[in-house]
Amino acid sequence: MNWLYDLWDDFISLLFPRLCYACGIHLVRNESLICTGCYVSIPRTDYHLYADNPVAQLFWGRCLIEKAAAFSYYARGSRIRNLIHKLKYSGIKEIGYELGRIYGSSLKSSGFLSGIDLLIPVPLHPSRKRMRGFNQSEYISAGLSDVTGLPLSTGSLVRTVLTATQTNRSRYERWTNVEGIFRVAEPGQIRGKHVLIVDDVITTGSTIESCVSELLKVEDVKVSVIAIAYAVQ
Ligand SMILES: [Zn+2]
Repeated sequence: MNWLYDLWDDFISLLFPRLCYACGIHLVRNESLICTGCYVSIPRTDYHLYADNPVAQLFWGRCLIEKAAAFSYYARGSRIRNLIHKLKYSGIKEIGYELGRIYGSSLKSSGFLSGIDLLIPVPLHPSRKRMRGFNQSEYISAGLSDVTGLPLSTGSLVRTVLTATQTNRSRYERWTNVEGIFRVAEPGQIRGKHVLIVDDVITTGSTIESCVSELLKVEDVKVSVIAIAYAVQ
């Protein structure tokens, strides 16, 4: 009866085509969210394979991090940008989870995660989270946690100041805009640990810098950073 099921499946997808969230083509059976073509051809930075990569360099002289990496490049018209937009603005949370799983597998097999104890998604301010309904970085972290087995903490770092959206600000404004906007709410959860901060897109690194400086106030903490995409300036 499998052929009957397949026939029904094909019929349903004719009526309600499932499309790739990255490129818009029809998904075929066994594909979900992202087509195989996109899965294979999304450009990987491979930054996790070398320590002095451009994302790590972004923090040189600004704050002390152990290591940093990003999965892909955030550029106008890029597939990763389409995916992140669908995640954040259309609320397709599964995309975050899936991207976390994809990147998590590479990070795990490369040894990048050795020594890491805990994942912390960059927190949204409670009122922004209420507006959006969710924090995209939490979904990315959940996917990462799923494939790596690393625990995830969403309450230990909180965002206390609501900043304007970063989209239309100049680089200088963005830089000065995020000082002291986070607070460690549960120092006991991170004391003595090597924490991995998880973000969706890194642009100037100023938000992360603010997270790191707060986390480093807790004794014996080490911090590393990853994001799904790096917006090359
Ligand atoms: Zn595609």
